Amino acid sequence: MAEGKEVIVHVIGGGLAGCEASYFLLRKGYRVILHEARPSYVDNAHHTDLLGELVCSNSLKSKALDNACGLLKEEMRHFGSLTMLAAAQSEVPSGNALSVDRDLFAQFNTAKLASFPNFEVVHEECVDLPDEPTILCTGPLTSPALLQRLGAMVGKGHLSFFDASAPIVSKASIDFEKAYYKSRYEQGDESYINCPFNRDEYFAFVHELTHAQRALTHEFDTRYFEGCLPVEIIASRGVETLRHGPLKPFGLARDGYPKPYAVLQLRQDTKLGDYYNLVGFQTNLTYGEQKRVFSMIPGLEHADFIRYGLMHRNAYLDSPNLLNEDLSFKEKPNVYLAGQLSGVEGYVESAATGILAAAYLERKLRGLPFVALSKDTMLGALVDYILHYHGSRFEPMNANWALLPNVNKLERMKAVEESLKRVDDFIKESI
Ligand SMILES: Cc1cc2nc3c(=O)[nH]c(=O)nc-3n(C[C@H](O)[C@H](O)[C@H](O)COP(=O)(O)OP(=O)(O)OC[C@H]3O[C@@H](n4cnc5c(N)ncnc54)[C@H](O)[C@@H]3O)c2cc1C
Repeated sequence: MAEGKEVIVHVIGGGLAGCEASYFLLRKGYRVILHEARPSYVDNAHHTDLLGELVCSNSLKSKALDNACGLLKEEMRHFGSLTMLAAAQSEVPSGNALSVDRDLFAQFNTAKLASFPNFEVVHEECVDLPDEPTILCTGPLTSPALLQRLGAMVGKGHLSFFDASAPIVSKASIDFEKAYYKSRYEQGDESYINCPFNRDEYFAFVHELTHAQRALTHEFDTRYFEGCLPVEIIASRGVETLRHGPLKPFGLARDGYPKPYAVLQLRQDTKLGDYYNLVGFQTNLTYGEQKRVFSMIPGLEHADFIRYGLMHRNAYLDSPNLLNEDLSFKEKPNVYLAGQLSGVEGYVESAATGILAAAYLERKLRGLPFVALSKDTMLGALVDYILHYHGSRFEPMNANWALLPNVNKLERMKAVEESLKRVDDFIKESI
C-alpha cells in the first residue's frame, strides 16, 4: 500500500482519531508527525503517555451488526482500522459488547504506529496550527491554550460543556455472597457482575445519592450532555428513574432468589479480570461521597475503588458552520478536523472520523477532486450530520439508526449489506 511520498502530514492529538488518521497515512507512505501533549499536559482523564488511550469505559459497544455502532465498527474494519486491530488483540469478555483491556489496547496502538519508519511522535502541546497538511484531533479535553487559538480563529463558534465518567472497583473486593454473574436475558456469556437491590435498599440508596455532595464545578457552566448524564442527576429527576436507566433489573433475576427491585451491572475492565467498572455510573460526586454512597450498593460494601468517577470538559466545535465538505476548516483549508472535537460522540465514532478525515486529506494531497463517502453508510451519515445539522443547538452525536432515516427496523440487515458495499466501493474508487 505504501507509496513512498515525501509529504509530511501533522496529526495533532494522539487519541483515538489521531491514531487512526496516522495509521491510514502511514500505510499510504506519508511521513506523519504526531504531536501529543501528554505527558507534560495533564487533563485528569488520561493516565498514561500511550497513544489511543481509552479514558473511561473500556467498552466499544455492541458487536451486533444490526446495532448502529456494530455496523460502524464493521465499516471501520473494511477500512483496515487500527482501533479494530487493537481491540481484537486486547478483547475481554463482555457478552454482546466489544470490550478491551485498556492498557493492552493503548500499548498495541502505540507499538503499531512506532513500527513505521515514516512515523515520528513529538510529545509537545501544540498551541498553534501548522501551515502544512494537518489533521486536528485533540478531543474533548483539548488543552486550553489551543482552544483559545481555535476560538480566535472561529470566533464564537466554539462551544464547550461537561460530561462525567464512572468509577472502577477491584473484583477481589466485591462481595459474591450478594453479587452474581449473569448477562441480561442470558444474551452472550455471563460476563457481567450484578449487584441486586431490594426495594428498601434502592430507596435508601437513591436518597443518599441525590443528597450527596457534588464536586465543585466553579469554572464550568453545568450543561450536561443528555447521553452521558451523571447518575446523581438522573436520580434527581425522580425516585424511579434509575430503575428505568442504569439500574434496570429486567432480565437479571436468578432462580431461587427474590426478584431484584433494581440491579447495578459491573463490566470487566481489564484482560486479567481484576478490575470492573460500574456501568452507567458516571458521576460528579466528591471522591469521599462516591466511597460512602456507592458502598451502599449491595455487594460493594467493602469495594476498593481503583479509580473514582470524574467530571470533565467536553469541548467541540460548531462543525456545521466551520467545515468544508471534506472536513477541512473554511478558515484554514490545510487543517482537517476529526474526533470528538468535530462533534461526534464516543470512542468508535471519534476513531472512525479519523479514518475519513485522513482519506479525504490524502485524496487532496494527490490532487484529486473530493468524493464524499455515501450518506447510506453509518460513517457517511454521521459525518453528514456534523456537517449539515440545521437545528438550534448542535450537540455531539453517537452512531444511531436515526441517522439513516430510510432504514426500516425490519430491514436493517439489508441496510448493513448495502452500507458495507458502499464502503467497499468508496475504498476501491476513491482511496
Ligand atoms: C473523561 C471522559 C470520559 C469519556 N468516556 C467515554 C466512554 O466511556 N465511552 C465513549 O465511547 N466515549 C467516552 N468519552 C468520549 C470520547 O469518545 C473520548 O473522549 C474519545 O477518546 C475521543 O477521541 P478523540 O481522538 O477525539 O480524543 P482523545 O482520545 O481525547 O485524544 C485527544 C488527544 O489530544 C491530546 N491533546 C489535547 N490538546 C493537545 C494539544 N494542544 N496539543 C497536542 N495534543 C493535545 C490529548 O492529550 C489526547 O491524547 C469520554 C470522554 C472523556 C473526556
